Amino acid sequence: MTETTLGTAARYVACLPLLMLYTTSATTASDAACAQVVEVTEVAHGVYVRQGIQAVVFEQERVANVGFIVGERCVAVIDTGGSYQEGEELMCAIRQVTDVPVCHVINTHVHPDHILGNLAFKDDEVSYVGHVNLERAMALLGNTYLSRAKKHRGKTLGPEYIVMPDRRVRGRIELDLGNRKLLITAHPKAHTNNDLSVLDEKTKTLWLSDLLFVDHIPVIAGSAKGWLAVLDDLTQVPAKRVVPGHGPVQADWPHAAKDIRRYLSTLRAETRAWLTGDGELQGAQEQVAYSERHRWKLFDRYHKRNVISVYTELEWED
Ligand SMILES: [Zn+2]
Repeated sequence: MTETTLGTAARYVACLPLLMLYTTSATTASDAACAQVVEVTEVAHGVYVRQGIQAVVFEQERVANVGFIVGERCVAVIDTGGSYQEGEELMCAIRQVTDVPVCHVINTHVHPDHILGNLAFKDDEVSYVGHVNLERAMALLGNTYLSRAKKHRGKTLGPEYIVMPDRRVRGRIELDLGNRKLLITAHPKAHTNNDLSVLDEKTKTLWLSDLLFVDHIPVIAGSAKGWLAVLDDLTQVPAKRVVPGHGPVQADWPHAAKDIRRYLSTLRAETRAWLTGDGELQGAQEQVAYSERHRWKLFDRYHKRNVISVYTELEWED
């Protein structure tokens, strides 16, 4: 399907003139954030994605795909970016297309490029939605993220920048944005142990975030085995399009699962074979699944780490 048939429209959002209209809202964005152009793409009616760049978290900003879905009553934000400023920029983009309030911030998982903009949406009327395991993951990793933000950006951030979920998802819940229902699913351990997916029933858009990487090498912070099982389930969802956490703003489904499944399966099979042969971790990092090297961006930055993750997972399997 081409972009045209999907009705895709890139919107270049200049927020400055809008500030006067919205300064009474509790969830306003600052002049500084809105003074610049923020580009978002409407991948389906009312579903907007701000595309991240293919780069390493903290070394650069605006790394993850983030966005929002607009209902008649309110807006759900899906991930907030890697800094307060990114959150503000997303708020500017929202204000360009609607004046209905934000009612939910959905964090798809704990990684800093998805949650560090949370504070920009803080308001009594906004609920923060996360996997039942998200709060614990934030408590464990939050300080590390804040000190890495300081190291790379020179900014000291207080603990208030780690905004915890107040609505915890176990299994599945539904959110109603006003004539628009979102189905939120909490998955077993895959990319992390706290992954959510979001299905917009109206447009059959499945927001997978980091359960799907396209072009950018998958990063395993949970379980390769579990991730393959979750992808098996997700490919049964009759979605018209998916939104990956890294890569293009949308992709065809289930076709877009092909590359990540091949990477994870190859890594798993070759690590398992390695463990029955030479067995040393260092050798595995140099040899396992290198047939994948030319297929992924950032392979050299993340692959060895992925091998450690899979090696550890498989070392004691029956
Ligand atoms: Zn992630």
